[in-house]
Amino acid sequence: MQSIDPQDLIVARPEGLYCPPGDFYIDPWRPVSHAVITHAHSDHARIGHGHYLCAEPGRGLLLARLPGITLDTLPYGERIVHRGVTLSLHPAGHVLGSAQVRLEHGGRVWVASGDYKVEDDGTCAPFEPVRCDTFITESTFGLPIYRWPTQATLMAEIFDWWCVNAAAGRASVVYAYAFGKAQRILSGLMRHAGATLALSGALPGPIVGHGALTSLNQAYREAGVELPPVMLATDLPARSPALRRALIVAPPSAQGSPWLRRFGDASDAFASGWMQLRGTRRRRGVDRGFALSDHADWPGLLSAISATGAERVIVTHGNVPVMVRYLSERGWRAQAFETAYGEEEDADAQAVADTDPEGRAT
Ligand SMILES: [Zn+2]
Ligand SMILES: [Zn+2]
Repeated sequence: MQSIDPQDLIVARPEGLYCPPGDFYIDPWRPVSHAVITHAHSDHARIGHGHYLCAEPGRGLLLARLPGITLDTLPYGERIVHRGVTLSLHPAGHVLGSAQVRLEHGGRVWVASGDYKVEDDGTCAPFEPVRCDTFITESTFGLPIYRWPTQATLMAEIFDWWCVNAAAGRASVVYAYAFGKAQRILSGLMRHAGATLALSGALPGPIVGHGALTSLNQAYREAGVELPPVMLATDLPARSPALRRALIVAPPSAQGSPWLRRFGDASDAFASGWMQLRGTRRRRGVDRGFALSDHADWPGLLSAISATGAERVIVTHGNVPVMVRYLSERGWRAQAFETAYGEEEDADAQAVADTDPEGRAT
């Protein structure tokens, strides 16, 4: 299955995905001299490379995550030529600054997707289909069971859940990855409430963010993404009744932490594509699950792959064998690359370990 063609523009090496004519890597997991980074999630953006290149809108986030790196940025769509390889970055719609990498050399065009999502979420440039001969795709949710409700539907569900809880004097804790998902919920709720507010007059309560969100929210705001005001828990007096009407946005690893006690007997929920499966929600031990994902669902993956016009597809992470088999049976030349990409969860846990929930520097 792992056929190596000397004409390949990207090959899998122990360090990461490598472009032989350009002599650089894409999202390498071991230290290399030149790394093109698709986005700042820590399974894709690691410390220790000599030179980094990312899309211009991702600059603040990448520097926040990896301070002190040598970083060049490229506006979406702008082409540079490196050792004869024409390189450009195109929106992946995954998180702020996320990019697909387009490479052209010797008449061939390859695109490496990184992580992507096809629905426009309002917090980053929407996914752009890029024509190519070979498409390297993720497959995090590459099973036919994964089909997301629209973002508007999910935001309405989250908002209604918050309203019901607030009316009952119960705080609402929603667990969401600190980078990307949290900002999407904040932005999405603000826009949903904007429409609702005209009718009802007020939010059900304050929005409280875990300290791990603060610098990321800041980076989004600096990039021009509008977010609602987010308080720290300590901005409210310990026995304030407002705590019982609050919506608390916290990373999943904050679940069960002492920080949550001040909110009393709260209702909790997890926002993740994995919530589409009932068993995952039970294992998480939360009251509600919202299937809000920053990755393409099954129809999204297939539509993105088709839109590239590629005849060859290489699958990097997620449900790899299922996707490879599905594509092969339908006439694509499909194969897998073994990579070290995976869940954002580990990164998230680290971010929380490094951050005080009240946002104080540690
Ligand atoms: Zn990601
Ligand atoms: Zn990934």
